[in-house]
Amino acid sequence: MNFTKEALKRNYSLKDLTTFKIGGKADLFFVAETKEAMQEAVKYAQAQKLPVLLIGGGSNLVISDQGVEGLVILNSIKNLSKVDLEECTIELSTGFELAELVKLAQNHSLSGAEPFAGIPGTLGGGICGNAGAYGKSLSNILVEAEILTAEGELKKVTPEFFEFDYRFSKLKVSNNYVLSAKFQLAKGDKSEIDAQIEDILAQRHSKHPHKTLGCAGSYFKNLPPAEGETRRRAAGQVLEKVGAKNMSVGGASIFEKHANFIVNKGQAKASDVKELAKLLIAKVKEEYGVELEEEVRYVGRW
Ligand SMILES: Cc1cc2nc3c(=O)[nH]c(=O)nc-3n(C[C@H](O)[C@H](O)[C@H](O)COP(=O)(O)OP(=O)(O)OC[C@H]3O[C@@H](n4cnc5c(N)ncnc54)[C@H](O)[C@@H]3O)c2cc1C
Repeated sequence: MNFTKEALKRNYSLKDLTTFKIGGKADLFFVAETKEAMQEAVKYAQAQKLPVLLIGGGSNLVISDQGVEGLVILNSIKNLSKVDLEECTIELSTGFELAELVKLAQNHSLSGAEPFAGIPGTLGGGICGNAGAYGKSLSNILVEAEILTAEGELKKVTPEFFEFDYRFSKLKVSNNYVLSAKFQLAKGDKSEIDAQIEDILAQRHSKHPHKTLGCAGSYFKNLPPAEGETRRRAAGQVLEKVGAKNMSVGGASIFEKHANFIVNKGQAKASDVKELAKLLIAKVKEEYGVELEEEVRYVGRW
């Protein structure tokens, strides 16, 4: 659908567009299926002085119970999908799920995307938060991208543009939107790739909440390495030690198998989740003297 003012939905409920299944309504809502439609929507918002929030799979968001001001755009752009077996690259629109990259690489015996198996959400959200697991992040394989600026301009950029860091890119703190991305992989052995993906999916299945239990994955970032160490300290271990698993606020509690997962057992409000997070931060600060930092993003009117 092209962008028109008439295509905008008003007071659109967002909670079912998040994996937490929590949150209020968007003042205005639009589903972008092409980059042109997204560009027009962003230009419209700029002309009307409306804030824009772009969402993908909603798997890293806590949306306020009071809803979101301005225009919320759902990235559903999926018209570019290109595998180059000579160069060993895959280029995709960012409205595709990260799972699409993993599946295409697997089907073409390209190695390098296996660690991302099972991470929910779109490629756009993944690049924004530099998603990763098993010691690898998307920044390790991204070689080129197309972005849309807040002013509605299209630009090709190299990875340096994103200023990637642990669970961070510049997209988190600027109004730039990534529309497509090219990933560098390497020729691999199909049976090894299959086995690694199967193993990772089984590990995730045993450790992570079932889809029906609302959550947004690891709630806090892992802590910086302790003195003399190189690996980050798992936030889940620290939380476990301060008794997080026995804590809850309203409908928000902690997943019994992983202390870094806040879950919505059905009736949690965004305010319950945020309040529980605040208590956890205070408890860890009191006992360990370190400040946990959220990996999830709070959006909307708080
Ligand atoms: C069960 C579970 C397990 C998880 N495991 C992991 C894991 O192992 N590793 C990990 O890193 N994460 C994990 N996550 C968190 C989440 O899946 C990732 O952060 C994911 O990459 C978010 O993508 P999304 O499309 O859902 O983004 P959303 O939640 O929709 O948005 C997140 C942020 O990205 C921005 N954004 C979205 N699309 C774009 C775009 N095209 N351009 C610019 N900005 C954009 C949004 O504005 C927002 O700030 C897990 C989540 C769940 C629920």
